[in-house]
Amino acid sequence: MQMGAMQDFELRVMRLLDHVAREHPTREVVTRWADGRETRNDWAGIHRNARKLAQRLVKWGINPGDRVATLAMNHEHHLTSWYGAMGMGGVIHTINPRLFDEQLIYIANHAEDRVLFYDKQFQPLVDRLKPEWTSIERYVVFDDLGPDGFQALLDAEDGDYAWYEGPEREPCMICYTSGTTGNPKGVLYEHRSTVLHAMHAAEPWVMGLSASDVILPIVPMFHAAAWGLPFAGALAGAKFVYSQTNDAAVLCELMNSEKVTIGSGVPTVWLAMFQHMDATGEEPRFLRQITVGGSAAPRAMLARFMDMGIKPLHLWGMTETSPVATALAPGPGWGDLTRDAQLDIVCKQGSIPFGVELRIVDDEGTELPRDGETSGRLQIRGPWVVKRYFKAEQDAVDAGGWFDTGDVAVLHPDGTMQITDRSKDVIKSGGEWISSVDLENAAVGCPGVGEAAAIGVYHPKWDERPLLLVVRKPGSAVTPQEITQHLTQHVAKWWLPDEILFVDDLPHTATGKLLKTVLREQYKDYKLATAA
Ligand code: ADP
Repeated sequence: MQMGAMQDFELRVMRLLDHVAREHPTREVVTRWADGRETRNDWAGIHRNARKLAQRLVKWGINPGDRVATLAMNHEHHLTSWYGAMGMGGVIHTINPRLFDEQLIYIANHAEDRVLFYDKQFQPLVDRLKPEWTSIERYVVFDDLGPDGFQALLDAEDGDYAWYEGPEREPCMICYTSGTTGNPKGVLYEHRSTVLHAMHAAEPWVMGLSASDVILPIVPMFHAAAWGLPFAGALAGAKFVYSQTNDAAVLCELMNSEKVTIGSGVPTVWLAMFQHMDATGEEPRFLRQITVGGSAAPRAMLARFMDMGIKPLHLWGMTETSPVATALAPGPGWGDLTRDAQLDIVCKQGSIPFGVELRIVDDEGTELPRDGETSGRLQIRGPWVVKRYFKAEQDAVDAGGWFDTGDVAVLHPDGTMQITDRSKDVIKSGGEWISSVDLENAAVGCPGVGEAAAIGVYHPKWDERPLLLVVRKPGSAVTPQEITQHLTQHVAKWWLPDEILFVDDLPHTATGKLLKTVLREQYKDYKLATAA
């Protein structure tokens, strides 16, 4: 006889949508479209539309496990497509339209996408690549209001559909890394990992979401599943505000008209917001928290939010970690710390919540101490961390289940983690490591510096020495001497760049990160004056 039992309850993503539609049916999902139109739906409506879409996909002969792709900015139809595809057992594939053609061709074919839902603005891209995409059978435009558009497709269904059910370890989503080297790699999220990640992301010591929140995800839905917000926000019963454009003026206006409490975006998005604020005097008045990640957020940015009374929630993660891993979580005695001491912690990449295990190792794989000084290769394991890339022949983890993140980090005795660099970007000078990220962040704190990139260039004596490339702010005439002077207050003397060059712009990846591979290639034969 059984001693007793708890209930069977497969952790499938549709439980999140069922929950929010049942408990918070009238909580809104608002969209400002690129043409200025505004549509107002709610979670009950998204639930209904997702059922209609699932019906349609089944009629088209899409089978559980098949990939359904999107090439789109943020809006309610994009959200509907995620839940609709997952609801019939499909796997949603969010394609990043900023990738190069070659990568766009590769990933759609590699994923064997069968359907593509896309925004009108990407029509030229679709026309260009259609002949190369070998598996896509159907193309539908999200924001076409005509008889072939997404809305008409939904209108033709009655929504009488019960979600496809299956084991929780089935896949529900695939995201490709932007692949700064080699081909992009697909990370196949499962229903279980996605639900667990949503529970984790909503926790008080991570994003701390609740039904009183109004979330405006500026992070695109094609960037690492919009940091899991469509799932974590549903779990919490939050209202969503979407903007199809990333124009800071539109975002700021929406933040005030819709009383947005949480905004999420990479550092460059917030820099644009600051520029807008400085130019117009307009400020987001209801924000209680901003979520920033994807690259290290500069100290000056985090400080400005703190001074505005907004919690700057600094997150770290990657596509391979679903993506949220660590987050700023105030520890014991937080309230007694000075503003600067708090800021020191905010600048780090957060604490380690349950479900995430981190360690740092040396090049031989030997674990290094968590002493706040030693830096090493950051490794991670947990239930929402990749084990094997899509269609890969081998696991991406070692025998102990650890995944090597490619980041270099320091673990502090107080439990915080600090990214110091990407392992490929550290500048190796005289056998010691210089953090290119620290140099860049210190440089952007110098008045007149818009953006900065530090790379190692060949030096006969030291192996590599730092070269700093700087984009000046419009109208600024800041000099190398002034920047060096500023840097001496923030970094060790031997870290100071051997040279500072001014450039008009810097190359970025599809997710807005500095493309160091291109810079290293460009400056590989650069002769430093100090090397003469
Ligand atoms: P992509 O390069 O495709 O945009 P990800 O978004 O998965 O891929 O990028 C993950 C990487 O971004 C991390 O490995 C890390 O190097 C960097 N990163 C993410 N968040 C932070 C952060 N808060 N501080 C510093 N680096 C970060």
